[in-house]
Amino acid sequence: MLKVGITGNIGSGKTTISKVFEILGVPVFYADDAAKKVMVEDPILIDALKKEFGSESYFDDGSLNRKHIAGIVFNNEAELAKLNAIVHPAVFRAFDNWVAGIKNAPYVMKEAALLFESSSYKMCDKTIMITAPLKLRINRVTQRDNLTRVEIENRNARQFSEEKKVQLADFTIRNDDTELIIPQVLELHKQLLALSSH
Ligand code: ATP
Repeated sequence: MLKVGITGNIGSGKTTISKVFEILGVPVFYADDAAKKVMVEDPILIDALKKEFGSESYFDDGSLNRKHIAGIVFNNEAELAKLNAIVHPAVFRAFDNWVAGIKNAPYVMKEAALLFESSSYKMCDKTIMITAPLKLRINRVTQRDNLTRVEIENRNARQFSEEKKVQLADFTIRNDDTELIIPQVLELHKQLLALSSH
């Protein structure tokens, strides 16, 4: 089954556009939601996290001590890399399990903010990058979340640039209010259906 990765930087519209593909009948795996789930469900990850960051990484009831982990990785690239090296493989495992359970879909999608940064794009047959100017993305996210402009800019700075991702991606969707989204999605859907039938 064809696996299609879909990504975009903060506020680009990844989730919104993935929902349109879902309406067309394409199953979508949301990697960022899955990451939250595996943190408390994947026994390999839980063991590794306790070994790396201490048993206080979890409360007695099994829930994640986010404050403890955040305190270690905040502004510390090396510790953040260690955390990612534990979490990303667990999300890959969850994706593989999820794909194994999908029947009768021409292709499936993986929506992930860090598709390219985490190398998970290498496990996809095709990739889609969603673009929008930073100013517009900031406006969208400030309306959606309780984040400041600087916090959004900092998050954006930790992601690869749009230019780099457009180069790495097979397809691009412009979500910048100059082009309609639905026709772009329908055209891409047509191409992906054709690819999946080969
Ligand atoms: P993040 O990386 O922060 O999770 P995202 O890339 O998944 O964001 P969305 O959550 O889909 O982006 O979109 C960000 C916000 O912008 C949402 O509130 C969404 O409703 C809005 N939005 C996205 N695309 C459009 C659009 N074309 N027109 C109007 N609003 C939009």
